[in-house]
Amino acid sequence: LESKEEFSHKTLAMDVMRPRRSDPPLSVVTQDGMSVEEVETLIAETSYSGFPVVVSQESQRLVGFVQRRDLIISIDNARQRQEGVVSASRIFFTEYTPPQPPNSAPPLKLRGIMDLSPFTVTDHTAMDIVVDIFRKLGLRQCLVTHNGRLLGIITKKDILKHMAQMANRDPDSILFN
Ligand code: ADP
Repeated sequence: LESKEEFSHKTLAMDVMRPRRSDPPLSVVTQDGMSVEEVETLIAETSYSGFPVVVSQESQRLVGFVQRRDLIISIDNARQRQEGVVSASRIFFTEYTPPQPPNSAPPLKLRGIMDLSPFTVTDHTAMDIVVDIFRKLGLRQCLVTHNGRLLGIITKKDILKHMAQMANRDPDSILFN
């Protein structure tokens, strides 16, 4: 049994995930409707290894996860080889692409590069469990949700930083058992 004191010290996924309260919101891509240009801007303005794919900015419902390098390669390839893909083309991660208005740029279908079941935990999951999952499954990142809404992300490096901080503050941390 855990003592009360130990329990009150328990770090939760919400304490380690990014963004922090003061940070800009999570950088996500929506499953349909973003233009090639918008996604290229997102790639140019951030350095994240990947982006959650959501139903819409409003819903923040998780659909999948796309690696930055796969996005870059696919867009470059499509611009070079795929008939007519240009800055104004819409990107779709959905299974079906709705009919495009006449004379609009051809769409770019990217469902194939999306991880359809990225690992997720809820914001109240204890970090010792999250660490265990990272170790056992060899995860690089994990998404954090609350009532089905995407809240944040935890990367392997976030965990290592967190563990280093805990080691400084609390050498007997349960994370090191
Ligand atoms: P690493 O943690 O290995 O440097 P990243 O470059 O992907 O990996 O992430 C850098 C930081 O940004 C991490 O603290 C991570 O939690 C956060 N992060 C990762 N992806 C995103 C994203 N799409 N939007 C906002 N923050 C992110």
